[in-house]
Amino acid sequence: PSIEETLLSAIRTIPDYPKPGILFRDITTLLGNARAFRRAIDELVHPYAGEKVGKIAGIEARGFILGGAIAHQLSAGFVPIRKKGKLPHETVRVAYSLEYGLDEMEMHKDGVAPGEKVILVDDLIATGGTAEAAVKLLRQIGADIVAACFIIDLPDLGGRKKLEALNVPVRTLIAFD
Ligand code: IMP
Repeated sequence: PSIEETLLSAIRTIPDYPKPGILFRDITTLLGNARAFRRAIDELVHPYAGEKVGKIAGIEARGFILGGAIAHQLSAGFVPIRKKGKLPHETVRVAYSLEYGLDEMEMHKDGVAPGEKVILVDDLIATGGTAEAAVKLLRQIGADIVAACFIIDLPDLGGRKKLEALNVPVRTLIAFD
């Protein structure tokens, strides 16, 4: 099967979660499917095999799972981008807007060295607000962002364009309307 067929059959869609009218794309079924999980990781990383990427930055929480696998595949380190208050050492912090209200995310100041090549990872990009905040954090500490990778794109919500406008190349594997 093609990568698209593999992903379509492995990703579960939950109607009305977390609230009425939302179609939630659930990748836990993809993670639980050994062949589909491996294929998705291989497919996401293959353009970066020769890139000498230093760190994979994963966005809490599903970006941690994908990011760990990608880091292993590219022989890179991993750095977590977390909800505020979870990291023990000195951090940089950024506020970003959610559908309702504001939240903050942070990462360790020494998580990435100035000029180090980094790939940002999460499971899905919708409006791009979460990934944009992560890009701001990474750039604050001088990261050279090679790309932002997601399994799923919701193109109608404009996240890809938002990141591309910040000069971040975006790689996604499947789009849902
Ligand atoms: P954005 O900030 O609007 O791009 O939303 C993306 C963030 O919300 C990511 O961290 C996703 O994990 C999460 N998210 C939004 N919609 C879904 C979904 O349908 N399935 C899984 N995660 C989602």
